Amino acid sequence: ANPIRVAIAGYGNLGRGVEAALAQNPDMQLVGVFSRRDPASVTLLNSDVPVYAMADVEQYQNDVDVMILCGGSKTDLPEQGPYLAQFFNTVDSFDTHATVNDYHAALDAPAQKAGHLAMMSVGWDPGLFSLNRAFGEAVLAEGKTYSFWGKGLSQGHSQAVRSVEGVKKGVQYTLPSEDAIARVRNGEQPELSTREKHVRECYVVLEDGADADTVRETIVNMPHYFAEYDSVVNFIDDDTFAREHSDMPHGGFVIRSGLTGAGNKQSIEYSLTLGSNPEFTASALVAYTRAAHRLARQGETGARSVFDVAPGLLSPKDPAQLRKELL
Ligand code: NAP
Repeated sequence: ANPIRVAIAGYGNLGRGVEAALAQNPDMQLVGVFSRRDPASVTLLNSDVPVYAMADVEQYQNDVDVMILCGGSKTDLPEQGPYLAQFFNTVDSFDTHATVNDYHAALDAPAQKAGHLAMMSVGWDPGLFSLNRAFGEAVLAEGKTYSFWGKGLSQGHSQAVRSVEGVKKGVQYTLPSEDAIARVRNGEQPELSTREKHVRECYVVLEDGADADTVRETIVNMPHYFAEYDSVVNFIDDDTFAREHSDMPHGGFVIRSGLTGAGNKQSIEYSLTLGSNPEFTASALVAYTRAAHRLARQGETGARSVFDVAPGLLSPKDPAQLRKELL
């Protein structure tokens, strides 16, 4: 069979991760990268495919089976998702949990109208963590579900920090509370407030002349991203930033703690330890690209989330091989 023709929209950390993940999946082929920047200024790490101007994207409708959207969730995807769903089957990693249904509706209408499939919010959270929350709840009807993140760098939150005026460079780490985790694993089913579970820690390099207090206040009061948490903002210089904040590790876990029968404790735990958050997220996007292509070929249209996709569709193996090897 011909490889699935895939293009990347937006070439940042996630875009580079998708480029690397596609190289590990022989049933898919990268055919181009689209960027809002001058294509001549964008150098691809490991491929010799063309970089095109995003403004010309409509012309390439017949050359791309699935477009993987690698823009930021805060401002890029709300615009690019619905726009690109008019022309392509799409897969994205939209991660603003608070507005997922608005985003679903905004994608669904253009995708339905044009006859395309739009897979939203793929990655690990949302994404693989979401699936594990759903499995846990469905299987252990009586219980509580917990999600912990970190310690790790959160790309979505780092991007939110970088969008604040006066911020030259910025990263955000999420730290889980060890005490909270221990209580959950012990089957106590504690009531934990958002604040008790995690702390958000930011490291910022200021633009020349920017006011530190104004930047700090803007960050810690940002709705959805920081306002509901205890957030700490540390100001550092360029050198420290380069030395100590250049890697992108992350991870975390989802725990379902429940009771069955006459009170037997049951616990399900799913954990991720990630050396590179964008490369892992990109690997999930690429697996869901295969599923999106298959669903689109079956004539399905409109917006979908990970809950709507059967797991076998993610695999390059056919159903009989999956049953034989993995069932
Ligand atoms: P990023 O590196 O900041 O890239 C975002 C966009 O900025 C790119 O698509 C690119 O668009 C533009 N850009 C990149 N480098 C640039 C540069 N040097 N100069 C000017 N523009 C540049 O963001 P990211 O780390 O890839 O993260 C993207 C999103 O992934 C996050 O916002 C987050 O929502 C999502 N994410 C989701 C999960 C999940 O589990 N669901 C996990 C991690 C991340 P152009 O090429 O068009 O300029």
